[in-house]
Amino acid sequence: MSEAVANATEERPVVQALRDALGDDVLLLDQDVTSRGAGIWRSDNIAARVLLRPRTTEEVSTALRICHEHGQSVVTHGGLTGLVEGGITQAHDVVLSTERMNAIEAINPMERTVVVQSGVVLQTLQETVAEHGLMFPLDLGGRGSCTVGGNISTNAGGNRVIRYGMTRDMVLGVEAVLADGTVISAMNQMIKNNAGYDLKHIFIGSEGTLGVVTRAVLRCREAVSSQPTMLVAVESFDKLLRFLKHVDGGLRGCLSAFELMWHNFYELVTTPPATNTAPLPSDYPYYVLVEAMGADDTLVEAVLTEALEQELIADAVFAHSEAQRQQIWALRDDVEQGFRYAPVFVFDVSLRIPFMEDYVAEVNAGLEREFTEVRNFTLGHMGDGNLHFVVSVGDGSAEARRAVEKCVYEPLAAIGGSVSAEHGVGLEKKPYLSISRSPAEIELMRTLKGSLDPKGILNPGKIFDA
Ligand code: ZN
Repeated sequence: MSEAVANATEERPVVQALRDALGDDVLLLDQDVTSRGAGIWRSDNIAARVLLRPRTTEEVSTALRICHEHGQSVVTHGGLTGLVEGGITQAHDVVLSTERMNAIEAINPMERTVVVQSGVVLQTLQETVAEHGLMFPLDLGGRGSCTVGGNISTNAGGNRVIRYGMTRDMVLGVEAVLADGTVISAMNQMIKNNAGYDLKHIFIGSEGTLGVVTRAVLRCREAVSSQPTMLVAVESFDKLLRFLKHVDGGLRGCLSAFELMWHNFYELVTTPPATNTAPLPSDYPYYVLVEAMGADDTLVEAVLTEALEQELIADAVFAHSEAQRQQIWALRDDVEQGFRYAPVFVFDVSLRIPFMEDYVAEVNAGLEREFTEVRNFTLGHMGDGNLHFVVSVGDGSAEARRAVEKCVYEPLAAIGGSVSAEHGVGLEKKPYLSISRSPAEIELMRTLKGSLDPKGILNPGKIFDA
């Protein structure tokens, strides 16, 4: 027994029990835990008494059974790309990392499904199914680090929700381990299955508070052979709305992204030190990236020409090569430019599209009342009603954060918006959950939590106080 384990054991019987059952190889202790970063967007390190790296569902089950017996809190970690403090730990927690559960177990090209362990990295999955002529449509900025289990636990959205839905829409089945170690195998491989409650949905989007997802059956689509992409400039929000309807109808089901950038965001990502250059003049109020997976260029260009003729759009550039396509996406993806104005606060809200223009104006007016130096770089998956803000007010204090949060979240109450479109709640949005969920809804969430995790050991304190 190593000295570190011996020390930990004296005061921590749960660590001894985990070690006895799982073996040294599964446990990391002390500096092996605390030298690990707490998240890829964070500068602090993990605080926890032990980090477990199970390889199988059975090991996850054993670990949870022991933690349940000892009333030991467990925080599950995937790729740590979350933005709402959903994976934050404390010194007395046990971390359960899915990093070794990274097998793609089966690919079924005829059924267009794939069976994976939850620690598979999204980009690895995308690239592996592509070798079989398939596409896994979920795509987001963290693709190179985020895991399928994390995507499922947060019901991740991303860039192609308008066409393919969120993670929830791509999951056919899951296997999850409950707090007491019970394995729920709901590895349904069918698109349709209405035999009673669809239990997978309990685990999708519940941020590791109701169970640990260990495996999943995912629905893929046929790979597309074309990916026409363009950037357009639009002169008013009213025209944006009409342009969205115009392209969605005109592209006959092929619209796969409608990504809106406000003028200030476009300027930010096309001005040095940003390395991207502006494909269109910088003096329009709105820019939209439009992508039409599977459409042919002739159709797309006809739809664009019509929009120009009807003056729905003021200017447009069409990607004629893969390099140009990537250049246009690079603009949209370069959110990190906002960190030039650090400290910044990043937001993810959802609302009905017709309310968007007035809502953004209200948020900005509120920020300008509160602070003298305000920058609010605004972008969003407009087709999904999802906005992102990168806000800088020249102050990174907790008080400034709360004041900014009030400006962003409170106007959502009157218009039925959501404080979280796709990032989840974690710790960060917990104080604002009641803006988007009724007391009865939150009480039902508590009932579910209480019946599935009666000792409250799974990701405690996240989403709401149990
Ligand atoms: Zn997003």
